[in-house]
Amino acid sequence: MSTPSAGTPLVGQMMDMPLLVSSILQHAARHFGGTEIVSRRVEDNTLHRYTWLDCERRSKQLAQALARLGVERGQRVGTLAWNTFRHIEAYYGVSGSGAVVHMINPRLFCEQVNFIINDAEDRVVMFDVTFAGLVDTLAPQCPQVRHWIAMTDRSTMPEMKTPVLCYEDLLGFEDAPYEWPELDERSACGLCYTSGTTGHPKGALYTHRSNVLHAMASAMPDGLGLSALNVIMPVVPMFHVNAWGIPYSGALVGAKLVLPGRALDGASLYELMETEKVTFAAGVPTVWLALLNHVEQAGARFSTLERTLVGGSALPPAMQTMFQDKYGVQAIHAWGMTEMSPLGTVCKLSATLAARTLEEQQHSLRKQGHALFGVDMKIVDDKGESLPWDGVAFGDLHVRGLWVIDRYFNHDESPLKDGWFPTGDVATIDADGYMQITDRSKDVVKSGGEWISSIDVENIAIAHPDVAEAACIAARHAKWAERPLLVIVRKPGGKVTRDEILRFYEGKVAKWWIPDEVVFVEEIPHTATGKVLKLKLRDRFADYLVEHAAAAQ
Ligand code: AMP
Repeated sequence: MSTPSAGTPLVGQMMDMPLLVSSILQHAARHFGGTEIVSRRVEDNTLHRYTWLDCERRSKQLAQALARLGVERGQRVGTLAWNTFRHIEAYYGVSGSGAVVHMINPRLFCEQVNFIINDAEDRVVMFDVTFAGLVDTLAPQCPQVRHWIAMTDRSTMPEMKTPVLCYEDLLGFEDAPYEWPELDERSACGLCYTSGTTGHPKGALYTHRSNVLHAMASAMPDGLGLSALNVIMPVVPMFHVNAWGIPYSGALVGAKLVLPGRALDGASLYELMETEKVTFAAGVPTVWLALLNHVEQAGARFSTLERTLVGGSALPPAMQTMFQDKYGVQAIHAWGMTEMSPLGTVCKLSATLAARTLEEQQHSLRKQGHALFGVDMKIVDDKGESLPWDGVAFGDLHVRGLWVIDRYFNHDESPLKDGWFPTGDVATIDADGYMQITDRSKDVVKSGGEWISSIDVENIAIAHPDVAEAACIAARHAKWAERPLLVIVRKPGGKVTRDEILRFYEGKVAKWWIPDEVVFVEEIPHTATGKVLKLKLRDRFADYLVEHAAAAQ
């Protein structure tokens, strides 16, 4: 008898079309051609508006202009740019032509930006006029960059030492018809570098296929839940992991995009949200902190905003509650990383959860959420053995999937372990499949061999009304090796004391999770992508407890 797997496979008879990012823009232009993209201009903060149809026309002009400058398929074209229409054109014009768009994070140290441009071997770099000074510093150290292009028109060209081309002049030369080339879907289309707090940043090289699949999966109802009726504002910068894919997923559904340029303060964001009727916005917690502070102080309300997507670092439950209870805005928690294009999980209600009490639902909705289709995950112990999904066991989080990195750009060795990518995060996964990040593996506090989640400790502090920001770090301890130390920035006018903070923990966590000490500071340092720079805090405070104990003797 033959087994079911024997025999000749029957080849399917459906069209075999490559998954290309240009097809996303083509779809938006053809089927939602009149839908707007509104941007705050970098040059003067005024609003620019045009449509997906205009966007495709100009992206094609850019593709032709780059070809005229000698950019070939596979070559890298860097961008140093805020979220505006011209950056969207770079996303599609560069990748659509077969070259690779390389989004450079201008908030990194100058040496890191220099390293990144050289490592990527960018042939051309396009930049917003605000980065003219940075370009003048970088240009002498980046000899392989053949052209620097200022993303503006002739009237606002910056005065610079470096010879630069004018973006609008280049586009103005191109009026011939253009068809997007049919590329191999596995060819590279985009490049982003990790922000790397230690060592050199490393590049994640995305494919057309991975970006299209990421856009399709993330747009789904239990992903970002996008539709043509949405007005989407990606506050997360387009130089940080593809602005969480929104330039692609937003186009894929034909939504209106609202791009805030460089005005990321609470007042400017709020004004733009209201005037353009934004319904969905995405960003890191620090951005929402500034927005909520503004709205609170102004005594304002959100008249159209329905949902915010929060990721990049843990969404503090106090922020989620404030959005929800005070302003009726759903704050959705998501998790991902540069190496994952970036989305891995989004936290939404499942049917199982919907049947539970409101309190149980809220508890689960604080977690980082469910894996999207296309991503698989597991937690493992030190020996690489899988840990149970019981919501209690925590271990190293490993992932694999359709838009997860296989190897870093210009690195030969594989970062994978048994075919899985170790994220460097520590997490629990509960029986319903909801994942919760408890720490970066290097930030976890190891007290007498037991692990304390620094994120849990921080979330409690942030819930105190006098606390603006909190960071929990591992400080050296004579008896327990490490103990939690809490670093706090008070809100303006906040008077909370050390003892009051410590009392605030009582009954909220196990006694041994309560920090040993509290240090008040004016400011907590952040990385270029808005995360707390714990390395710097550890450098400053690692011996704090030991020194205090010695001084007390
Ligand atoms: P990046 O590649 O710069 O986006 O950084 C990715 C890292 O940010 C992850 O590995 C996490 O450590 C952290 N991260 C991202 N989203 C979250 C989240 N929702 N909660 C906690 N940490 C997060």
